[in-house]
Amino acid sequence: MIGGFTDPDTDLSVETVDVDPAVPKTTAWRRKRNAAMGITGTYKKRKEHYSCKKCGQPSTVATGHSQYKGYKFCPNEGQTKEEWLAAVKFQILVKQVSNFG
Ligand SMILES: [Zn+2]
Repeated sequence: MIGGFTDPDTDLSVETVDVDPAVPKTTAWRRKRNAAMGITGTYKKRKEHYSCKKCGQPSTVATGHSQYKGYKFCPNEGQTKEEWLAAVKFQILVKQVSNFG
């Protein structure tokens, strides 16, 4: 516990926080920290995207993610988008064939 513990939520180096008496100290500290990190808005804001279950990044085009007919593409899986798309189309084809069988 003591020494080398660098959890950002328990960073004790921030001690000179201007505490607003209307909000709990921790909340004021988080707001100040978030402002310093460029984070604005509240936590009540609805999630705009889902996190990738494979790499944890937001599943958005900005992070290189994509989807095709419900299949999710993750750029951090070692596949190119073309390879992935070919595999997805093959899977869909296999499903269609097995449905006829
Ligand atoms: Zn991913």
